[in-house]
Amino acid sequence: MRGAELREVAPADIRRVASGSDAASIVNALTIDVEDYFQVSALAPYIPRGQWDAMPCRVERNVDVILSLLAQTGSRATFFTLGWIAERYPAVVRRIVDAGHELASHGYGHQRASDQSPEHFLDDIRKAKTILEDLGGCAVVGYRAPSFSIGHRNLWALDCIQEAGYRYSSSIYPVKHDHYGMPDAPRFPFESRPGLTEIPITTTRAFGRNFPGGGGGFFRLLPYAASRWLIGRVNRIDRRPAIFYMHPWEVDPDQPRVTEADAKSRFRHYINLHRTVPRLRRLLTDFRWDRVDRVFLSNP
Ligand SMILES: [Zn+2]
Repeated sequence: MRGAELREVAPADIRRVASGSDAASIVNALTIDVEDYFQVSALAPYIPRGQWDAMPCRVERNVDVILSLLAQTGSRATFFTLGWIAERYPAVVRRIVDAGHELASHGYGHQRASDQSPEHFLDDIRKAKTILEDLGGCAVVGYRAPSFSIGHRNLWALDCIQEAGYRYSSSIYPVKHDHYGMPDAPRFPFESRPGLTEIPITTTRAFGRNFPGGGGGFFRLLPYAASRWLIGRVNRIDRRPAIFYMHPWEVDPDQPRVTEADAKSRFRHYINLHRTVPRLRRLLTDFRWDRVDRVFLSNP
């Protein structure tokens, strides 16, 4: 299947911005991929997963920093949480749910979907859903693959996500990147399988290609004004809600350094960590934010 053949969700199927409404009234979706600094895919070659339990953990403290910023600005978000983290830090899961945020799944063990067999992948995403629903006491309907690792070569993963009972996925990034991407996928939510909505991270279109516009390393690398301009442009020109993503370790300048990592990965991981909190505060003030299910699903 070609990306261009994937059908965009019909306007009636998703909550659309009323035509003629002011761009400033658009509510965007904020997402946080809950994993620790030593689980990031780019650093994975330097930290065997057998050592995870021995690493100093920072995720609980970092999620608390984000929860407090969200509370201060009256914002809600979706937390795509690893089953591995939820099992070890159940209090984190409870704090997310108690504050009114959406608990969603980032799978169990943070292996790229593209590195797994369909059987292994299905087990991983089922296991995470069960753990999160038990600990959170709520239905978990959203899933995001580690490192946006669903593309042309493993579209079977969408069948697994549907089979595991999720209602939406946010795993395909319609950009060209050295680690992920499906540049010809639709830029806005589309039905990838019957009953399964794919919600791509925000991009902006210029010079005939898509540029990433929804957080990640670009939020730290480029000046804040770039993110504000990109999100504003999607709201104003495309008249669509944006979807933005970040990680708890991005608000933590004091995290232990993985000195063995290659220079490019270290640059991407450590650049401007001290700028994330003030930038996030501005982002939460300059735009309105809510959970993915409320922004994009017709019956959340
Ligand atoms: Zn991740």
